[in-house]
Amino acid sequence: MAEYKGVLICGELIEGRLTGISKELLGIGRKLADDLGEELSILLMGSDLSNAAREAIACGANKVYIAAQPLLDNYHCDACTEVATNLCREIAPSVFLLGQTDMGRDIAPRIAARLKVALAVDCVELRIEPDTKLLIQTRPVYGGNALAEVVSVTHPQMATVRAKSMSPLEPDESRQGESIPVKVEVDIETMKIKLVERIKQPIEGVKLEDADAVVAGGAGIGSAGNFAMLEELAKLLKGAVGASRVPCQEGWVSQSIEIGQTGKIVTPNIYIAIGISGAVQHIAGCLGSKCIVAVNKDPDANIFKVADFGIVADYKEALPAFTEKCKEIIG
Ligand SMILES: Cc1cc2nc3c(=O)[nH]c(=O)nc-3n(C[C@H](O)[C@H](O)[C@H](O)COP(=O)(O)OP(=O)(O)OC[C@H]3O[C@@H](n4cnc5c(N)ncnc54)[C@H](O)[C@@H]3O)c2cc1C
Repeated sequence: MAEYKGVLICGELIEGRLTGISKELLGIGRKLADDLGEELSILLMGSDLSNAAREAIACGANKVYIAAQPLLDNYHCDACTEVATNLCREIAPSVFLLGQTDMGRDIAPRIAARLKVALAVDCVELRIEPDTKLLIQTRPVYGGNALAEVVSVTHPQMATVRAKSMSPLEPDESRQGESIPVKVEVDIETMKIKLVERIKQPIEGVKLEDADAVVAGGAGIGSAGNFAMLEELAKLLKGAVGASRVPCQEGWVSQSIEIGQTGKIVTPNIYIAIGISGAVQHIAGCLGSKCIVAVNKDPDANIFKVADFGIVADYKEALPAFTEKCKEIIG
């Protein structure tokens, strides 16, 4: 175990800048590295990585591993897996953290399988056990109704981390760090996955995962057109619209806004669930919200068991009144 040293983060970028989750990973990574008495490093993949490298050092990294390759600008699963796996083999970190994001969920199991190590996904808390120096990984189980602490005895100890469960450090431009080039030996032509086209989804307003307010609709909304009422409220609260599985399957809204076990996990300050029964698979995606408000015409709906505030009503009556009141308060 002694040959494994340091904490490595897999960085993610949007238009050359570090994403929020990457900064959160650096925040917790810094704490873990300090508790181990070791260094914190981050892997960045793509081209034009100088801004992100500076940000990473300001947010706590001692070393930035730069995998500069224009082909990595567009996320490529096989290529990113290869680069990250090779770096882990080369530098042998004690801990390797990725975000519980589309990219992290895609590559973390592949890297773990190649390295033949365990992987704890969707962690919400991480700490170093002082005696053993092992990473204690806390993750929700049973649809978010309980928390389990797990310890991997293989190295690197790998985990994916839920967005907004960790705090980033205040950026400090005076922090010093080192940038180290990484050899990128990938031949995208020979890889099984081919990137055929990249379609940028237009996002109006705030991104669902980053929203402080989420207004989510379920089967009870009844049609695509009725989602306009939810959009109005979300806009007013400067938030985003989400959905349970049913509206996505019905084609009323985009699949990309499904919340739950197989959809997105959101942790806003306020989650307003409208016409959603509260199936365990849905609740798994919103239980981390600071405040849950449910509107449902069935007083026995499961959603009321996890809601901080509940309105038993037909949403078509309750929602316009609720929106009007919000308009009045917000001015
Ligand atoms: C492996 C697996 C993974 C899954 N993953 C997910 C997931 O990630 N996300 C997810 O959401 N689901 C997921 N599901 C599906 C999940 O089990 C439920 O079927 C789904 O969440 C139900 O959606 P709903 O609450 O919108 O619909 P329903 O259960 O049909 O509930 C509709 C609710 O609307 C209320 N209602 C109806 N009309 C009105 C009205 N006018 N005003 C107010 N209330 C009204 C009803 O009282 C009811 O409570 C998964 C299922 C499986 C098996």
